[in-house]
Amino acid sequence: MPSGLTDDEEKAIKSAVDAGTTYRRKVPELPIRPSVSTDDAVARFRQPLNEHGLPADAVIDEMVRNSDGALNQMSSGNFYGYVLGGSYPVGVAADILVSAWGQNAGSAFETPAITGMERTVCDWVIDLLGLPGECGAGIVTGATVANTVGIMSARNALLAAQGWDVEQQGLFGAPNVPVLISDAAHSAPFAALRYAGFGAGRVTRVQVDSEGRVLPEALRSAVEECDNPPMVILQAGQINSGAFDPFEELIPIIKAKNGWVHVDGAFGLWLSAVPDLADRLKDVQRADSWAIDLHKWLNAPFDAGMVIVRNREPLVASMSARGAYLPQTTDHWEPTDSTPELSRRARGVPSYAILKHLGRSGVIELVSRHCRLARYIADELSKVSGLQILNDVVSNQLALACGEGEEGDRLTKVVLEAVQGNGRVYPTHGEWRGRTIIRISVINYATTDEHAKTLIREITQAWKSVQAEIE
Ligand SMILES: *Cc1c(COP(=O)(O)O)cnc(C)c1O
Repeated sequence: MPSGLTDDEEKAIKSAVDAGTTYRRKVPELPIRPSVSTDDAVARFRQPLNEHGLPADAVIDEMVRNSDGALNQMSSGNFYGYVLGGSYPVGVAADILVSAWGQNAGSAFETPAITGMERTVCDWVIDLLGLPGECGAGIVTGATVANTVGIMSARNALLAAQGWDVEQQGLFGAPNVPVLISDAAHSAPFAALRYAGFGAGRVTRVQVDSEGRVLPEALRSAVEECDNPPMVILQAGQINSGAFDPFEELIPIIKAKNGWVHVDGAFGLWLSAVPDLADRLKDVQRADSWAIDLHKWLNAPFDAGMVIVRNREPLVASMSARGAYLPQTTDHWEPTDSTPELSRRARGVPSYAILKHLGRSGVIELVSRHCRLARYIADELSKVSGLQILNDVVSNQLALACGEGEEGDRLTKVVLEAVQGNGRVYPTHGEWRGRTIIRISVINYATTDEHAKTLIREITQAWKSVQAEIE
């Protein structure tokens, strides 16, 4: 029987799986921060292309060797940087199948197994978040693209309501679509607005409170000034404070003006899946479109996110590479009708494995554990003299400042550098309420109470040594 693999190819695949397994087993012992600099790591790889090819297994072995010391342990339970999930191992296993199966996920008709898994992921996530079952959804690379797709769906619908077909006529000469956005929005929706032709600078920024939540009165007056129904971009989970916009108060104001509500819920929207926490974003389900990441709270391997749109029609009208809503070739959605890509990786499949592995109770446990640990870390660090938590901890994000004023900002940087340099835990930097902060994001699947204690100890010790030096 002929084999689909040569000996060296078979060795290459097995050796990649072995190296990956060995790496993940060793992660808890490795310093989080890479020991090799970017320049040195790049120099290891950036060689002239070899004239003659190498056997497949030799290529893989060399890549593994050259990566040694040059990886950041983002999958560690001690990683608290940015807002990143840790690539759940069951998702990693599924991701290996995704590559091995070599399916182009763009067509439902050609790849039945992938369609089965990805549609199920959409159904499950929509259900977990308490959104209407008939919503349209697309699996994309992350929240930046999910925000872009949501905004392009809004663009289609708001202009169609004014008798303008943006897909055919474009934006030149189109009626005005006022865009209102939270003054504490992430940079991603601003990029999305640029990609969708709205410009990042012509939007109206709506004033927020000290936690970064849109103020209902400020929104009301901004909406009153709109000549046409506006597109309004709200947020579930502010990057520094983890706060939620007061959807219950804000959405009726926008709906009264026939506006479109898009929610950037990259990580925070997951709280809707937790009955005890869902109140914090009450009525977020009344929006028109939502962006959510699968590679943040669900800990899917990079990259995966999802856009969800209440009314599927503007989603398909703006995304379909076929240009219009053509008759279905199967009873299932064509994946390419809901995403910008025609050909793409089956990036929803690892999330199928993770959701199946966790079950509904596992998802609830994951999100509530992180929120509980964030609260615990905040309480413990607040007891240390000179450390302050600047935000009201309502989800998984903490904004920590050391000392006071400008000198405090300098010390905060010194403490962060020391903590990262020690290699045992890894929060990252930020700016919040005029202060330099250490931002702590509790979102890795592996993070437990023990990890949280290590973080508290590492930060407390670093702060105490910095203080001892200045005295
Ligand atoms: C991470 C994040 C984004 C961007 O998501 P990507 O997956 O990195 O594209 C957008 N908005 C918020 C609130 C985020 O936290």
